[in-house]
Amino acid sequence: MSKREITVVRTTNGKARPDPNHLGFGKYFTDHMFVMDYDRENGWHSPRVIPYQPITLDPATMVFHYGQTVFEGLKAYHSQDGRTLLFRPEKNVERLNRSCSRLNIPEVEEEAFLSGLKTLIQVDRDWIPTTEGTSLYIRPFILPTETNLRVAPASSYKFVIILSPVGSYYPEGINPVGINVEKQYTRAVLGGTGTAKTAGNYCAGYKAQQKASESGAAQVLWLDGIEKKYIEEVGSMNIFFKIDGEVVTPQLNGSILEGITRMSIIELLQEWGIPVTERKISFDEFVKAYQEERVEEVFGTGTAAVISPVGEFRYQDTKYLINNRQTGDLSKKLYETITGIQTGKIYDEFGWTVEVKSSGM
Ligand SMILES: *Cc1c(COP(=O)(O)O)cnc(C)c1O
Repeated sequence: MSKREITVVRTTNGKARPDPNHLGFGKYFTDHMFVMDYDRENGWHSPRVIPYQPITLDPATMVFHYGQTVFEGLKAYHSQDGRTLLFRPEKNVERLNRSCSRLNIPEVEEEAFLSGLKTLIQVDRDWIPTTEGTSLYIRPFILPTETNLRVAPASSYKFVIILSPVGSYYPEGINPVGINVEKQYTRAVLGGTGTAKTAGNYCAGYKAQQKASESGAAQVLWLDGIEKKYIEEVGSMNIFFKIDGEVVTPQLNGSILEGITRMSIIELLQEWGIPVTERKISFDEFVKAYQEERVEEVFGTGTAAVISPVGEFRYQDTKYLINNRQTGDLSKKLYETITGIQTGKIYDEFGWTVEVKSSGM
């Protein structure tokens, strides 16, 4: 057998399906996982779908010490006509490889990633929930497996994909949230790892998230790490402002993560003829526009929620209420269009969706 052919070992011990009305996020995992290995001699090899199981590693394995890891996040959707759809998965491969490059991890071929993912989904297809708003969250990740405490890139890795049926992000309808403007902690700086989906970026945000939660806010507004002036992201989402009919999002500046939802929204707005600009935007500029009553809508964007409207910003003792804490018309239209394309309800004129055909197996 060639070292690139995907082998499949099915479980003899399938799990019970969780209640589709109480899935939550990332709590349940399917019966199988995809794994392939890397070493210097063979490159990425031995792609396989195996029963979902623990990864057992020596305590000196590099993953436990220096955080040389990357991950991705995307979803598979069950369409009304029974198809399984992915949304722009090749963009996730490109981004994974940019993350790999930043973390000195060997890149993965698009074909190896996508064929592994499709085979895994074919095996676990009946785990894709079909209730409105639900989907199958896909978590690809790479970890170093070399046993060594030397501070240097590892010589061996595992690429793994696990699948988790997830519930509707908005079981009670879209709900604008409160956001705490963070002036003390920084998510990422120019030259750091902010543009990569790597573990350390996320735990570095926990302190600020804790502060936000304690003040009753849902998420953190991240400002640039140098001047603490320019808006970068909201929680682990990109951010958009609609001011005076124009949509503005912070330009990719070397510390912002390039979201695929962000990219898709920019392309949609351009298609609709709504002015959209990627540029620097400071919190002071927001405050000025707010005082002049020119701020119409603010929303975060990401795979999990698609669109998450901001209901208010809190900065020190001041609250800035946005659109009277209501979901704006543009936020609604973007949410409906993107989720409509993802689930096959709206015709995909962009060619964004990729069907996972039934396996011939
Ligand atoms: C993943 C992520 C996003 C959103 O990316 P999508 O591809 O739209 O899901 C935005 N910011 C951060 C920090 C992220 O990790």
